[in-house]
Order: sequence, then C-alpha cells, then structure tokens
Amino acid sequence: MEKIRMNTPLVEMDGDEMARIIWQMVKDELLSPFIELNTEYYDLGIKHRDETNDQVTIDAAEANKKYKVAVKCATITPNAARVKEYDLKQMYKSPNGTIRSILDGTVFRAPILVNGISPVVPSWTKPITIARHAYGDVYKNVELKVSGAGDAYLVFEGADGKEQKLLIQHFNKEGILQGIHNLDASIESFAHSCFTYALDTKQDLWFGAKDTISKTYDGRFREIFDGIFEKDYKEKFETAGITYFYSLIDDVVARVMKSKGGMIWACKNYDGDVMSDMISSAFGSLAMMTSVLVSPHGYFEYEAAHGTVQRHYYRHLAGEETSTNSVATIFAWTGALRKRGELDGNQALCLFASKLEEATLRTIESGKMTKDLALITSLKDVQVLNTRDFILAVRDNL
Ligand code: NAP
Ligand code: MG
Repeated sequence: MEKIRMNTPLVEMDGDEMARIIWQMVKDELLSPFIELNTEYYDLGIKHRDETNDQVTIDAAEANKKYKVAVKCATITPNAARVKEYDLKQMYKSPNGTIRSILDGTVFRAPILVNGISPVVPSWTKPITIARHAYGDVYKNVELKVSGAGDAYLVFEGADGKEQKLLIQHFNKEGILQGIHNLDASIESFAHSCFTYALDTKQDLWFGAKDTISKTYDGRFREIFDGIFEKDYKEKFETAGITYFYSLIDDVVARVMKSKGGMIWACKNYDGDVMSDMISSAFGSLAMMTSVLVSPHGYFEYEAAHGTVQRHYYRHLAGEETSTNSVATIFAWTGALRKRGELDGNQALCLFASKLEEATLRTIESGKMTKDLALITSLKDVQVLNTRDFILAVRDNL
C-alpha cells in the first residue's frame, strides 16, 4: 500500500526501560510500515533529561502547545535509588507533573474492553472514564495534632486588611486538625476540560461531590460546573445528544455500579485517586488502560496508564524472554493519530487508527495474548506470546 501521509507533526515523547523497548517495536512494526510518520521527537529518557537538566521536558510540553497533539511513553520519576542507578545530577520532578503544570489539564483514564477479559461488574459493557481533578484538597493540605484543650479557628487574613474567622472546634482533649484549599481558576479549567472531553468522545458527563455536607467547599465545585455548563456547553451537549448531571457522590457511586458504563465520571482529587484504582482493577489490568491529558486550551497528550515496567526491563537486559503487554502503548498512539487526523481533516489517518485498534483487540480475542492477560482471561486454548511476537501477531491481523 501507499503510505499514509501526515500534514502536521505529532509531538513524540520517548521514555524509559521496557516501555521504551515496546515504543520502538510498535513504531517499527505497526506504524512506520503504513504511515509516513511525521513526528517532532523529544527524548524524555532519564539520561537525556539529565543531560539537558530537564529542559527537554519543558521543550516537549511547549511543542505540545504548538502542535496540539502529543504521545508520551512512560518515564522514570526518579527517587533516591534511581539517582544512584543512573548517576543523576539531581532528583528531577515527575515529567508528567511538569507537563501537566505547563498544559494545565485534567487526566482522563479509560479501560480498553476486549471479549474474554470480563469486568467484575457484569453490567459494565462500555468503558467508564474517570476524570480526576489534579489540584489541591488533601494533596496540598496542612495538618496539626493538638495536644490538649484549646480552640481551633479557620482564619483568612485578606490582603486588604479584612479578616474572616470561624471556630472549627473547641477541644477538651487531644485531637487532630486539617486545612485544605482549592482555587476557582483550577476548578474552572477542570470543568472546561471535562465538558470538552465529553463532547469530543460523545459520552455523558457525571459529576459527584458532597455539597449537602460541604455547602461552601464542595458547593463551589458544583456552582462552577453548573455555571460553566449553562453558559458555554448546554446547547452543544443538546446538539451532540449527550447529557451532564451533578449528583451527590454516594448517589453517583450507586448509579455507576448499576450502569452499563459508557460515561465520564468527573471526580474531585481524592475521589478520583480512589475511584480510578477501583475502575482499573475492576476492568482487569493497568496494562489495558489508556490515559489522556486534556487541557482547557485544546492540547491533548496521550499515554499508557502503566509505568516503565522496570522488572520486565531487567529481565530483558539479562537476555531473558519477556511477555510485556503493549496494548496501552498501541492505544496511546492510535488516540494521538486519530486526534491528529481529526484536527487536520486526514480521514486516512483516522481510519488507520481504528483499524489498528481493531486488529489489536481481535488478536487477543483469537486467543493470542501476553502473560498478564492469559492469567485473567476466560478464553480457552490461549497462546501466550512474548513481547515481540504479540506485536507481530497484531501486524498479521492488521
Ligand atoms: P509499572 O511500570 O506500571 O509496573 C508495575 C507492575 O505492573 C509490573 O511489574 C508488572 O507486573 C505490571 N505491569 C505494568 N504494566 C505492564 C504491562 N504493560 N504488561 C505487563 N505487565 C505490566 O509501575 P512501577 O513498577 O511502580 O514503576 C516503574 C517505573 O515507572 C517507576 O520509575 C515510575 O516512576 C514509573 N512510572 C511512570 C509512569 C508514567 O510515566 N506515566 C506511571 C507510573 C510509573 P509483573 O512484574 O508482576 O509482571
Ligand atoms: Mg492512587
């Protein structure tokens, strides 16, 4: 076949360890033979981040702003052990955190469904996407242990000299205290990202918080979501045939359990932390989970939800065979290619993305899969393939 052309580049952010090995295999076997790949390449591998004092991560995020669409490989977030292992000049921050702070976005995580890997909730026939607010609340808290009797106050000293003060509790004996905050601007961009993504994927948006108890704090989240929806999105949702609703978080949990799936569930920071782990394990595996960062300015960054799969990499380095699942990496690429195609009006590219996804799912359904899936599938006569052979089996189907 004649290779599919790309008018505009895609920002490619390479990464680390086994994820980097898979990345190259996917490009060599599943993309380059069919597409005249047009990417602007940034090497976010830990060695190159160290050589550039992490400037490459900032440059990659800036390029994401310029070209709108990026695809990212999993990267090492260094800890003390990694600093020693790679002889790093410093303990760099998480690349995802750096990119997120430049693009100002919300992370959407969705499981990839395939016949033979059943969710533990039988009624879930469509994926459930978690949209997690990634700023503030308990993740940016201050805490105190109080040692005895006394009064605790919530005090705001305005820059204009005005003061607001509320009694939290009169303590008779020892106890604990916590202060948390959020920002209107951050909640607003969270809301815009959720509404934009719902329109983009034509899925209903559900948002749950606890404004009956937390009338001011959670109430503000609800107010901002409702206000932005009425002003900017109501008509667009009607045209797209999708709905938005707010309900109490406990009501949303109950409805999700009884649903068929197929919605976006917007969660405050802590709720999203808990619920995304519940959703990913209930649907099967972290290796079957995609993740996309959507900024309110219309930038998209696609990635796999798993990490660099360090333990498999050490086996790979030792010359042993690995059976690492490349599905989430393949879907990160197809997500980015489809978005590139949509923005450029490049139908051939969109079609290719869908065909590659289909070929990947059909490969698994035909009984050919990596070890992680073989352990949980209900299919009989499964053929467990190594990392490369699975990718080659997908190519055969493609
Ligand atoms: P991980 O790479 O996700 O791997 C944890 C375990 O999950 C693996 O050991 C493996 O289990 C299983 N697994 C994950 N992905 C798999 C796949 N594609 N196929 C088969 N099995 C898979 O998490 P981690 O070991 O905690 O972190 C390793 C490195 O990744 C860290 O340096 C961390 O900073 C980085 N990380 C990066 C990102 C990102 O860039 N988005 C996200 C998370 C972590 P078995 O060993 O039992 O087979
Ligand atoms: Mg968590």
